[in-house]
Amino acid sequence: MSESTIAAISTPQGSGGISIVRMSGGSSFDIIKRIFKPFNKRELDRIKDNRMMRYGHIEKDGRVYDEVMVNFMKGPNTYTREDICEINCHGSMISVKDILNLLLDEGCDLAEPGEFTKRAFLNGRIDLSQAEAVLDIINSTNELSQKQGLKQLSGLLREKIEDIRDIQLEALSRIEYSINFTEDGQDLPLDDIISYVERANDEIKKLLSTANKGKLIKDGIETTIIGKPNVGKSSLLNVLLNENRAIVTDIPGTTRDSITEYINLGNLTLKINDTAGIRETEDKVEKIGVERSRELAEDADLVIAIFDRSRDFDQEDKIILDIIENKNAIIILNKLDLDSKIKKEDLGNNFKVIETSMISRDGIDKLEEAIFEIFNTKDLNKESFIITNLRHERLLNLAKEKIENALKDIKSQVPIDCVEVDLRSAYDDLGLIIGETVSDEIMDKVFREFCVGK
Ligand code: GDP
Ligand code: ZN
Repeated sequence: MSESTIAAISTPQGSGGISIVRMSGGSSFDIIKRIFKPFNKRELDRIKDNRMMRYGHIEKDGRVYDEVMVNFMKGPNTYTREDICEINCHGSMISVKDILNLLLDEGCDLAEPGEFTKRAFLNGRIDLSQAEAVLDIINSTNELSQKQGLKQLSGLLREKIEDIRDIQLEALSRIEYSINFTEDGQDLPLDDIISYVERANDEIKKLLSTANKGKLIKDGIETTIIGKPNVGKSSLLNVLLNENRAIVTDIPGTTRDSITEYINLGNLTLKINDTAGIRETEDKVEKIGVERSRELAEDADLVIAIFDRSRDFDQEDKIILDIIENKNAIIILNKLDLDSKIKKEDLGNNFKVIETSMISRDGIDKLEEAIFEIFNTKDLNKESFIITNLRHERLLNLAKEKIENALKDIKSQVPIDCVEVDLRSAYDDLGLIIGETVSDEIMDKVFREFCVGK
């Protein structure tokens, strides 16, 4: 248990109905008793322990700070397992800051980012993957990522990791036994060992196979809209944004000045980076549209290539078609409301061609359907668990490599104690996912991404 009692503002900065200042640690109740005056005077004596909310003033030296409700939660059945008091005050920046400062004067330390959750982890209430899930839920931009976060928070990943580690232990204990209790490792039940190790590896591979989807869910589908000048790229972005702009706050890794738009389509998020001319500087930028298109299409998960049917199909259009050749792409034949000089057939049959008008918005629903089809959203919903965290993916990959190495060694009769080293190390890698024997360094890295107050 930590010695200090920490405090922070747990709600977003700004004005609103209520804000919450949260305090956790052994002195929480003592501190609150010094500064909280319930309107029903007898109540303070009854604040022994548990789970109640009391109405009154935060008051000190005759000064009234705010009219509040205080939530008393006695550990260990709390978020951090410590004593927690949550002060629900008016959602005013003045109230929260004054109350926070008062708590600091009364002996609290200002909580570091994620410190409440870190304490929950350190005090054994949740494992590291669950702590990370809290962050994922806070930052989720679409239904799927929020849902995945909830699954992880419920301990689903921990269960899966523990199951795999149990299988690994079966193999390890057989090896240990042979090394310790049989002569020269005779009677080594090799087939048994191999079958356990292979089973563990299969389970790891199953988890890893979901990681690509996980990235799409969590970070959004990197989407690029390409096409010659004036085909309707900006118009498409505007149409999509008008209807589906995602409400996104502080996604880690994005800065305010880079222009990235997030669009929610059903349970997916499209992440659209600023592409040539989309942010209207039609003259110079648009002239190099084709070159820029090539660059942008390079790393995209999805390319939407637009053609203008009211103009003849020309050399530049041809280049656009070449660019998308091996890509995950959808073709849009735009300006449906004008007479056509391009036929659907001119665009080949490698990709779905959708006819749209950005003026009437005809065809936009078909575009959305086509995107759902490509990313198979129904499948995503069915998947029991999806790896969305890069740290987890890396550790799973490390474990897999070591296990496969061990399997190779077993089969070529490398001494079993050498094999054991790899297997044990793979076991430890999985342990790091749930935060067993995790270093301060890794922990700092995980919690650094949190906001203060969580
Ligand atoms: P960009 O250069 O590819 O970004 O193209 P814009 O979105 O800026 O559109 C170029 C011009 O085409 C603008 O004047 C739009 O109003 C017009 N435009 C875009 N989509 C349509 C459409 O579906 N029908 C018609 N008639 N005009 C369109
Ligand atoms: Zn444009």
